[in-house]
Amino acid sequence: MPRRIYEGYAYSDAARAECIWPLPDQTWPELTDAETTEVAIVGGGFTGLSAALHLAQSGAEVTLLEAHVPGWGASGRNGGFCCIGGDKIGLGAIRQRFGVAAAQAYFNAQRGAIDLVDDLLSTHGIDAETHSSGELQLAHRPDILPTLRAERDLWAEYGVDATLIPQQDLADQGASGTFHGGLHVPLGFALNPGRYLTGLATAAANVGALIRANSLVQSITRSGSTYKLKTPRGQLTARKLILATNGYGADGLPDWLTGRYLPLQSNILITRPLTEDEIFAQGWTTDLMAYDSRHLLHYFRLLPDRRFLFGARGNVRASAQGQAAMRARMRRDLAAMFPAWVNVETPFFWSGLVSLSRDLLPYAGPIGDWEDAWVGMNYHGNGVAMGTWVGARLADLAMGRDPLLPIHARPLPRFPLPSIRRSYLYPAILAYRLKDGPVT
Ligand SMILES: Cc1cc2nc3c(=O)[nH]c(=O)nc-3n(C[C@H](O)[C@H](O)[C@H](O)COP(=O)(O)OP(=O)(O)OC[C@H]3O[C@@H](n4cnc5c(N)ncnc54)[C@H](O)[C@@H]3O)c2cc1C
Repeated sequence: MPRRIYEGYAYSDAARAECIWPLPDQTWPELTDAETTEVAIVGGGFTGLSAALHLAQSGAEVTLLEAHVPGWGASGRNGGFCCIGGDKIGLGAIRQRFGVAAAQAYFNAQRGAIDLVDDLLSTHGIDAETHSSGELQLAHRPDILPTLRAERDLWAEYGVDATLIPQQDLADQGASGTFHGGLHVPLGFALNPGRYLTGLATAAANVGALIRANSLVQSITRSGSTYKLKTPRGQLTARKLILATNGYGADGLPDWLTGRYLPLQSNILITRPLTEDEIFAQGWTTDLMAYDSRHLLHYFRLLPDRRFLFGARGNVRASAQGQAAMRARMRRDLAAMFPAWVNVETPFFWSGLVSLSRDLLPYAGPIGDWEDAWVGMNYHGNGVAMGTWVGARLADLAMGRDPLLPIHARPLPRFPLPSIRRSYLYPAILAYRLKDGPVT
């Protein structure tokens, strides 16, 4: 029996009820028969849809099974930062562990992932309300400034001209708050994830990928050279398998996956549209996507319709009470960091699951020793670009092309004592909160 590691609330519609992003309004049929296909994909987020699109474009027969509707998971409820990321340890540590060439290849993949999303938006005519030229990282304490300087120097080694912004210049850049300086990294852009997701699903369907919604895969079995996927009312038989369930996956589906991912909640609070007076009163006028330097970081951006999006992680309980407590915490943090908005209403709040690896690196590679079966996951909360890119690389693998994955395809370690791995988050989050200090 597949086993999920959070309470049912995390997998319910309640967790995403106030999400403002549009989901595709097409009606996708459910799998209600015994069907066969060449490649079966489980999961209709950026990873699964990108794999489906690239496979169908290469002429493969592909059926994607989604438990709800495409975009129901993290892909339809994120902050829309299409940015560098995917790991949690940084290029410096990756270079130490894997060497200079592999770190360069990984950097190229991160940059290529952003370019891929950009290409998909223009090729398929998707209006995803893009804005923001790169990202702004903001120091929450003065002692973080040397770290930003070191990061600037590291970026330079990869040919990226990042700019340090001293505290006294932040206001001129329209980035006033309680910050002590910043680093602008000119990579990435912001988008409306619902619109991007809808465009991607439509593009995949237009080139022949079959999408089956409300088709929860309950078991995956291998028999000879085929895979059988059972849903409540149907069965799909395929020669090849791609798993793209990320934080919404379940232990035992299949067995190899057990303990090789750790879902973590991320949350978003949205204000009502701000007036220009309110925006100027706070001095946050930039359209740059931004985040602070805390371990439990806040991420934020002014949306094109002048609402303010404010995201954070750090809650372990998945319940209505847990969600209410996190909402209250984020409301306090917003008021502390952007004091002029202390009384601004925040009518929308939702949460979703991202996923971590034990070694804090993303994964794209085989499902154990199963032949012609792959999984892409664990983007550490940065899967808009990386998930899209990994989906394309999984399509390469299924088409027999070598996608050159020096880091992503390493053997993926299990968390120790997998069944209690969620409990590791309590001390980790407490330690991070103590290190980060109070939110001011
Ligand atoms: C609140 C929040 C904010 C975020 N902000 C950002 C951001 O700004 N930038 C960024 O880069 N990343 C962000 N992320 C992370 C990013 O959204 C994810 O990394 C990315 O969407 C993962 O895509 P995916 O396709 O791999 O997984 P998901 O989008 O989670 O899709 C997995 C899908 O699999 C389906 N599924 C699961 N089990 C089954 C089954 N048995 N049968 C059938 N279907 C199944 C689920 O229903 C789900 O739709 C954020 C995430 C959250 C939750």
